[in-house]
Amino acid sequence: MTPACASLERFAADKLAKLDRRQLRRQTHETRPLGGALVERDGQRLVNACSNDYLGLSQHPVVIEAARAATATYGAGSGASRLVTGGHPLLFELESRLARFKGSEDCLVFGSGYLTNLAVTPALVGPGDLVLIDALAHACLHAGARLSGARVEIFGHNDMVDLETRLTRLRADCRHAMILTDGVFSMDGDLAPLPALLELAAKFDAWALVDDAHGVGILGEGRGTGHSFQPPALAPLQMGTLSKALGSYGGYLCASRAVCDLLRSRARPLVFTTALPPASIAAALAALDLIESDTALRERPMQLARRFCARLGLPTPTSPIIPIVLGHADSALAASRALQEDGFLVAAIRPPTVPEGTARLRITISAAHSEADMDRLAAALQSIRQTTEAAE
Ligand SMILES: *Cc1c(COP(=O)(O)O)cnc(C)c1O
Repeated sequence: MTPACASLERFAADKLAKLDRRQLRRQTHETRPLGGALVERDGQRLVNACSNDYLGLSQHPVVIEAARAATATYGAGSGASRLVTGGHPLLFELESRLARFKGSEDCLVFGSGYLTNLAVTPALVGPGDLVLIDALAHACLHAGARLSGARVEIFGHNDMVDLETRLTRLRADCRHAMILTDGVFSMDGDLAPLPALLELAAKFDAWALVDDAHGVGILGEGRGTGHSFQPPALAPLQMGTLSKALGSYGGYLCASRAVCDLLRSRARPLVFTTALPPASIAAALAALDLIESDTALRERPMQLARRFCARLGLPTPTSPIIPIVLGHADSALAASRALQEDGFLVAAIRPPTVPEGTARLRITISAAHSEADMDRLAAALQSIRQTTEAAE
């Protein structure tokens, strides 16, 4: 047994009691993948409707085989940082493939999406600079902004008037400025108004960083949110993850050669961490092949999302993320439990992941779902809605 330190134990117990009182204590659950969108939890077979594996590629036989073959050929781990000997040949191949796919000059792959965002902003700005970030941008974009030491201004969600007001007031007094936003917002599924945002970025000479963790593989023929606009609205800094639609693990930044080269020297989460294992890189490469070649696969999550929203009378979705905002954490937890009884796994999302008073079910739709799954899930939600309304 490790020795217990009395004050540390007291601290942890007090904090946990506070979280319990507010229904905000989190738990990790054993969830066993059974192939496709099926999982087993608490001895029950469930249709997973809250994973970010939008194309079902984490379970795709071709992707799994690529990971297996790379492990057999190159080993289980990469052994060192990319700057030492972790620079695996597959990693260079993946970077050039991603750059071509996203239409950028160069690309850098990182350990995860989270690490990518901890890397990029602090490598580019610091004290004396300005970072403007959307209020609902992902936690790791916010963490990167704070870590940079620059002045951080949070603008209202997708509020371009607020963004412009802040730029007008503050830009002249700062050396460099960055604007940080998600392409698809992870908890709401709406899109950033990228054309207007990039226009402001150009007007005020601010560098735009778009986090497209939920856009790549799905929107803009799989090339991401920026490519879904006509004409495309492409930020000079485009990051994303290999861990969602690509079904693997890791993160990336697509940018110019000079910016990527600067990050090779300056991005601490690249320099001081071990390179991704060969299996993850090979899986991402195989996933990219499938995304580029299989139009029907890419389009399926949005098709199913439209069907699902139509059944529930919800507005036409802009991404496969469908939030059902319920308000209090209790209501979201109760709805999640009710869905589990109906055979669906949909996690309740509570503060601080979403703002206070907006606890919700976050439904994510995957190519691995069937039309029948959508119809059954819509019916289950409808009956929860009726029960809740009857109780009010
Ligand atoms: C999931 C997510 C990340 C983090 O990516 P990981 O590869 O899971 O670390 C970053 N940004 C957004 C918007 C996300 O949803």
